[in-house]
Amino acid sequence: MDRDQQCAAMAVLNAQHWSCTRCVEEGLLEHAAPVFSGTGAERILLVGQAPGIVEVETRMPFSGRAGNILMQWLCRAGFQDAAEIRERIYFTSVTTCYPGRAKSGSGDRVPSRREIALCSSWRLEIQRILLPELIITVGGLALREYLPGAVLSEAIGSAFSSPGDGGVSIVPLPHPSGQSRWLNDPHHRDQLAGALQKIADHQLHAGACTNRSQ
Ligand code: SF4
Repeated sequence: MDRDQQCAAMAVLNAQHWSCTRCVEEGLLEHAAPVFSGTGAERILLVGQAPGIVEVETRMPFSGRAGNILMQWLCRAGFQDAAEIRERIYFTSVTTCYPGRAKSGSGDRVPSRREIALCSSWRLEIQRILLPELIITVGGLALREYLPGAVLSEAIGSAFSSPGDGGVSIVPLPHPSGQSRWLNDPHHRDQLAGALQKIADHQLHAGACTNRSQ
């Protein structure tokens, strides 16, 4: 598939994905409003856990406070700004509809195994069309979709090769949620810097790095 064919195929897939109601039909969600972005021209795939309440309104992935932090991290990895990030990265998540609040009242509900199973075919089809050179996972749930059993706090700072995805590089990031205290530890901040350097290295390799300093 050349780039034009990829974009045409992705336009069809995106239209189908936007109209998905599988979880509503199974009584798992009250409403379906899938959130993702990309055209098929991207070479990097970013996979988060699930959209938040802000994204339900904007229908744009990572457009809330956590998204601002993620954009700042990615600029440290060599991207110029949020516009370039959104142009070069296809954004999706393990499940693409807002799961609602957790029963505990703390944060959003983690999607169920059934929701993940229902939604995974969208992500796999995105990957099949996109053939990404790099997959960035954000948070533990997304990481374990690619590296089952991986421990997020140990994986941050390393790059992995996914045998199930043609050896594509995977760089895990922590979730940029304001609720996470993980980055309060200086060692963890060093791990994050290492992960961002892995993404910057990929950009250099791909010949698309800017000169933005760390
Ligand atoms: S979470 Fe995924 S599978 Fe479930 S309704 Fe939304 S788009 Fe469809």
